[in-house]
Amino acid sequence: MKKLIDFLKENKISFEENVDGKRLCSFRVGGRAALVIKPADTAEIKALFGFLKNCEIRYILLGKGSNVVISDMGFDGAVILLSEIKSWSVDYDKLSIGAGASLSNAASVAQSFGLSGLEFAHGIPGSVGGGIYMNAGAYGGEICQVLSSCECYDTDTDEVVHLNNFDMGFAYRHSILQERKNLIVLRATFGLTVSDLREVRDRMDVLRAQRLEKQPLEYPSAGSTFKRPEGYFAAKLIDDAGLKGYTVGGAQVSDKHAGFVINRGGATASDIKQLVDYIQKTVKEKFNVSLECEIEFVE
Ligand SMILES: Cc1cc2nc3c(=O)[nH]c(=O)nc-3n(C[C@H](O)[C@H](O)[C@H](O)COP(=O)(O)OP(=O)(O)OC[C@H]3O[C@@H](n4cnc5c(N)ncnc54)[C@H](O)[C@@H]3O)c2cc1C
Repeated sequence: MKKLIDFLKENKISFEENVDGKRLCSFRVGGRAALVIKPADTAEIKALFGFLKNCEIRYILLGKGSNVVISDMGFDGAVILLSEIKSWSVDYDKLSIGAGASLSNAASVAQSFGLSGLEFAHGIPGSVGGGIYMNAGAYGGEICQVLSSCECYDTDTDEVVHLNNFDMGFAYRHSILQERKNLIVLRATFGLTVSDLREVRDRMDVLRAQRLEKQPLEYPSAGSTFKRPEGYFAAKLIDDAGLKGYTVGGAQVSDKHAGFVINRGGATASDIKQLVDYIQKTVKEKFNVSLECEIEFVE
């Protein structure tokens, strides 16, 4: 780790040591991360991965941490954040934006140019890169409907590659990035529809109001805990299983929306994991439906 820190200092790559995991994930749980690195551009990313290739240090890539839970034991490697890679440009109906930008920012920029298509993404608290990784979606919209192409860094070959929508292998809450961890999204280009600026804003406002009304946004969470099982709704199954309000330590099945596990205060990563396991077991026993967890647990 010392060698990596020396390398980061020499190359003037921004980093922080011993960072509280609660700052890194939207659930506000987890132990400390040994190192958090924030490369500023592609050159720094290439240099960083060139170095990591030749050492044994574990690393994980995070966007906004809104779909991950950091272990209570912390993470003894390097957390790489692309938060500095967020510049954007608009060319007629195309928005090109850095992977570290928030989805909300991407939607707001599009709106300010009267471009429609990203309204659904406005309330999703993830990054553009994390949104592509998850094929994030809401209210009938999905990243796969608007992504034209993305620029990725391939850590195996040290090359920057351009992938089109088809290459991404999109499916419900799935992209090829989930299998090909060597691909890191650097930039995305969204193909949008020229529309009326106020109409786009109005649609965003309606969706925001729906989120506020239906979701327990006053508590830390990672959004919907489970993927939608084919033919069912996860929240309804959990509610029907009598689990609304069910609590393990500080983690609870939200009373407002049973699809959300929330941090009621003082939850640990272990509380969340135990609750997730209990929900899956109970729903399987009662309805013979397997709930697939959408959240990633970082050990
Ligand atoms: C209150 C709340 C509401 C939510 N609502 C929704 C919703 O409506 N719809 C929905 O789909 N999701 C929703 N989510 C979940 C979450 O916001 C999305 O899954 C989002 O896409 C995750 O993005 P992120 O940047 O936070 O990813 P992270 O949690 O940081 O990372 C998730 C995964 O993506 C990978 N990743 C991140 N950036 C990159 C990159 N540049 N290149 C390659 N891989 C990358 C990470 O390595 C990790 O494996 C919600 C979450 C919360 C807390």
